[in-house]
Amino acid sequence: MNNVNVSAFHYFYTLILLTMTDIAGKIEYIESKIPEYVKLVIVSKTRSVEEILIAYNTGHKLFGENKVQELLNKKNQLPGEIQWHLIGHLQSNKVKYIVPFISLIQSVDTLKLLKTINKEASRINRVVDCLLQIHIASEETKYGFSLLELESAFETVKPADFKYIRICGVMGMATFTSDRKVLQKEFDNLKGIYDALKTRYFSESESFVEISMGMSGDYEIALESGSTIIRIGSMIFGERK
Ligand SMILES: *Cc1c(COP(=O)(O)O)cnc(C)c1O
Repeated sequence: MNNVNVSAFHYFYTLILLTMTDIAGKIEYIESKIPEYVKLVIVSKTRSVEEILIAYNTGHKLFGENKVQELLNKKNQLPGEIQWHLIGHLQSNKVKYIVPFISLIQSVDTLKLLKTINKEASRINRVVDCLLQIHIASEETKYGFSLLELESAFETVKPADFKYIRICGVMGMATFTSDRKVLQKEFDNLKGIYDALKTRYFSESESFVEISMGMSGDYEIALESGSTIIRIGSMIFGERK
């Protein structure tokens, strides 16, 4: 190797090393800041298999993706030990592809979707863990049930009627803002809806325990409001392009 090549090699080697320690360091930092009962889901959407492997090699097994196709592509190239959460909007026609392996569907946002998941899961005789996504943000575009919608849904079908679904709690996304008061209010609202659902429909359920809220920019506030699952991407991997 001539001098130019040597320094180029060193440069890239150092860069890779820095990236690795950075990702691992961020995961370690977040884990050290959250209570033991809180689960960290590493959101790996748009990230490469190599980046995910760096995170996986820290011993972390819980990852979240928001698109079915991207999830399936990555799953095939990564260790089978990884537990995958779906955190993005799910179309009914894609349910069958994830039902055999998914660890938790966090983004169930319609009664129709509950019915489809139950049907597909019954075909393979697997009980699938799900969260009810609740609309808590002021933005129109975010998916999710309102409490009213859920109440009217559970008038026609009871949660226990879905024999192949275990409803494990709720999930929500706050408004994209740095206004602490707004975030606090929305997370408290989600906690309130969780409590109401628990009392009305899940008082006998041992699995209805999760409140998935909090992302890179707002997880500390979400934890104060009672979050049990946080979903972190950009804080670990850097900003998405
Ligand atoms: C992208 C995404 C996250 C992670 O967002 P970051 O700001 O990158 O931490 C969390 N939850 C959902 C539903 C997402 O789509």
